[in-house]
Amino acid sequence: MQDITPDDLTTRAGLARAITWVESKRADHQDKAQHLLAQCMPKTGHARRIGITGVPGVGKSTFIDNFGSMLLEQGFKVAVLAVDPTSKRSGGSILGDKTRMEHLSMNPNAFIRPSPAGETLGGVAKKTRETLLLCEAAGYDVILVETVGVGQSETVVADMVDLFLVLMLPNAGDELQGIKKGVLEVADMIAVNKSDLDEKAAKNAARHYRNALHILTPVDPSWDPTVSTISAGKNRGLLELWSVMEAHKKATIESGSHSKRRSEQQLRWMESLIGESLMQAFQQHPNVQTALPPLRNDVASGDIAASLAAKKLLSLFMAHPTH
Ligand code: GDP
Repeated sequence: MQDITPDDLTTRAGLARAITWVESKRADHQDKAQHLLAQCMPKTGHARRIGITGVPGVGKSTFIDNFGSMLLEQGFKVAVLAVDPTSKRSGGSILGDKTRMEHLSMNPNAFIRPSPAGETLGGVAKKTRETLLLCEAAGYDVILVETVGVGQSETVVADMVDLFLVLMLPNAGDELQGIKKGVLEVADMIAVNKSDLDEKAAKNAARHYRNALHILTPVDPSWDPTVSTISAGKNRGLLELWSVMEAHKKATIESGSHSKRRSEQQLRWMESLIGESLMQAFQQHPNVQTALPPLRNDVASGDIAASLAAKKLLSLFMAHPTH
């Protein structure tokens, strides 16, 4: 298998091949992916990382297609990544993503990558983070990370981006339906979409969200989350939304919170990788494998305290290292 160097990433085919290494479960692919990522690190970090969420039907694909096209017209290279732990890719959903984002997918300066299939949310997030770095090294200026919001996926996406945008529907009365508590807490910007259908309802919804945000403590002291009304379908308000994103970038860079946020994300990512590897080593440890099933039964039946069982298992793990 031929190696890929950071220079090969400048073609979409080279980038796609590198991502298949990142997504592969094979140890040799993983080694190559890690080696490539290490080489790429100096070329990463310059892109705008933007997370986007919203309930199915809110207009995420329409938004990304039109907003992304607008950015392409401004000369940016745009990558779209998806975080969807429910996606079952069998070749079909790549086509699905292409038809979902018709304009973007036809543009050579855009790159669309569906969510890696058959993974837990943690696995999807790990691969998406690594893919994001590859896209940056490949020269993409704006990386849009989309999620439908299954499980904790909004929080996971918010933890890999500089700015998190939540799309909302304008339906008066059910503004909070389908929107999990906690999403507003990680939103840097809210856009009420489909304002063309009912402008008054969209404005009411916007007011509602402004009030809701008002009582929350902003994630970032240098930025008060904003609420806009847009129509992704009719291409209305998208340029204005980009101006708000520019203002966000400026404010957070000046206050230092942009780099602080990234550093904290990197550290949390490292810690979660350590946790994951430790758990894996723990579960594969022969003594733990022998002791775990009976202890699980005893804990489940209440015959032994969970804390004591955990202590016993950990001492088995630590007393007899396999490495
Ligand atoms: P997703 O499930 O969040 O990706 O939503 P889609 O982008 O697939 O949009 C769902 C439906 O809403 C589609 O039929 C779109 O054409 C429509 N839609 C998206 N944005 C707008 C908008 O701004 N106005 C109107 N009227 N329809 C929209």
